[in-house]
Amino acid sequence: MSDATSIAGLTLDEAWEGFARRDRRLDDRFVVAVRTTGIYCRPSCAARRPRRENVEMLADAAAARARGYRACRRCCPDSVARDRAAVADATRLIAAANGAPPPLAALADAVGYAPHHFLRLFKRDTGLTPAAYARALRAAHAAEQLRGAARVTDAIYAAGYAAPSRFYADAARLGMTPATFAEGGAGVTIRWSRVDTALGPLLVATTPRGLCHAALGDGPTPGELFPAATLVAGDDAHRRWAATLAARAAAERHDPALPDDARRLAFLEAVRRAAADG
Ligand SMILES: [Zn+2]
Repeated sequence: MSDATSIAGLTLDEAWEGFARRDRRLDDRFVVAVRTTGIYCRPSCAARRPRRENVEMLADAAAARARGYRACRRCCPDSVARDRAAVADATRLIAAANGAPPPLAALADAVGYAPHHFLRLFKRDTGLTPAAYARALRAAHAAEQLRGAARVTDAIYAAGYAAPSRFYADAARLGMTPATFAEGGAGVTIRWSRVDTALGPLLVATTPRGLCHAALGDGPTPGELFPAATLVAGDDAHRRWAATLAARAAAERHDPALPDDARRLAFLEAVRRAAADG
C-alpha cells in the first residue's frame, strides 16, 4: 500500500531513513525510484544515494515500471524473492554436504544462477563466499566433535575434513591446541562475556591467543563448554569489546530472511572477523 504519506506501513521519513542506511529488511516492502535517472532500486542498493527530492517510494517493481522506470542493473530489484530463495537453498546444500561442499559452479547451477552472479548474491546476503561459509560450518562442527573426544583425529574426520592438514589450518579458531580443547580447556584461563544482540544473547570467550568460542542463543554455559579451564567472567573492558564485536557484526546487515542457522553462522563469522581485526 502506498499513499502520499506512507509506504508499506512506514512513514515516508522512515522509508527514506531505511533507504539511507541501506536496510536490507525493507527490500521486499517497497522500491525506490529516482526521477533523475529513471531507475528503481531495492532500498538496500549499494549505489550512491540520490537527493531526497528526486526520489519516489513505490509499492513494488510493477508500480515503478508502470510509471516508466527501469530496474537498476546493480541491485536487480525484480528478483528479490528469487535471489533470497537461491541463497537459502545454497546454505542448505552446503550443510547437507557435511564438510565437502560442491564447487561454486555446481552450487550456482543447482540454484539456477551463473557462478559469478551467484557468488555476489551469496556474499551480499551472508557476508561470506560459499567456500568460506562451508569452511566456517565445518570448523564449527569440528569444535563440537572435539569436545570430550577421545582422539582429535576422530573429531576431524567426523566433522567432514578430508585431511588433518585442512583441520589444522582452521585450528587457530579454537584459541588453544585441539588437544587442549578436547580436554575442556585444561590449564587455560578463559574470559567470557555475554551481550544481547538482535539474534539473542551472544557468548564470546577468549584465551590469551584470542577468541576460543562464539555462540548465539541460550546454549551451553562456559562451564559446560570448558569444564577443565579456569573461567573468569569478563570485566567491563571485555564486555565492551564483546559489545563492539556484536555491533560490527550487526552492521553487516545479513539477509534477515536467511534460514536461522545460516543467519547465525553469518553473524558469528562476522564476529570472528571483527575479533581478528582487533
Ligand atoms: Zn539499485
